[in-house]
Amino acid sequence: MTIGIQRLCVYCGSSSGHDARYAEAANAVAEAFVARDIELVYGGASKGIMGVIADRVLALGGKVHGVIPQQLVDKEIAHEGLTKQHVVASMHERKMLMAALADGFVALPGGFGTLEEIIEITTWAQLRFHAKPCGLLNVDGYYDRLLEFLDHACAEGFIPDFNRRMLLADERIDGLLGRFERYEAPDRDKWTD
Ligand code: AMP
Repeated sequence: MTIGIQRLCVYCGSSSGHDARYAEAANAVAEAFVARDIELVYGGASKGIMGVIADRVLALGGKVHGVIPQQLVDKEIAHEGLTKQHVVASMHERKMLMAALADGFVALPGGFGTLEEIIEITTWAQLRFHAKPCGLLNVDGYYDRLLEFLDHACAEGFIPDFNRRMLLADERIDGLLGRFERYEAPDRDKWTD
């Protein structure tokens, strides 16, 4: 892995999905990270795909940083075996800290929470608040309809083409990490030209 990517943030479902391939994909991401000495930053929960990826990184001897709001700790869903669990006061604080800790952002399959997180961090990239890569792991085409919708938003003039290309996507983690390595953030703003 290129110098510069030491920690990646993974957004993913607090559910497991109906099909075992989602957990398999999470395990493959964990293996790819540990093989490249990439540490995992994630939402700190023990449930769903979130728990799967954290458990696998830890089992392989890798490092995992969780960032979880106190309210979710109180619901007893915080993972208790992480390298470091940051307990914060709010969801906003959580997303700020996850963004600060990571060198890039990957969304695995998930629901509202996952979508919100990857779209927000891509928006921050579009605004040039950071220059880190953002990408979707499109497990078995899980995100095809979202990608189609983004092309539609682009065609309708709401997302410039160069901003649309900032959200990387690949069906395989090795492919996505390769795109991250080659990623160069745009040097212009949405509203310039
Ligand atoms: P979802 O995709 O709706 O399951 O939400 C998962 C994403 O939102 C994760 O990346 C978390 O950061 C956050 N999140 C949502 N629900 C939870 C939860 N019960 N425990 C921890 N994080 C959660």
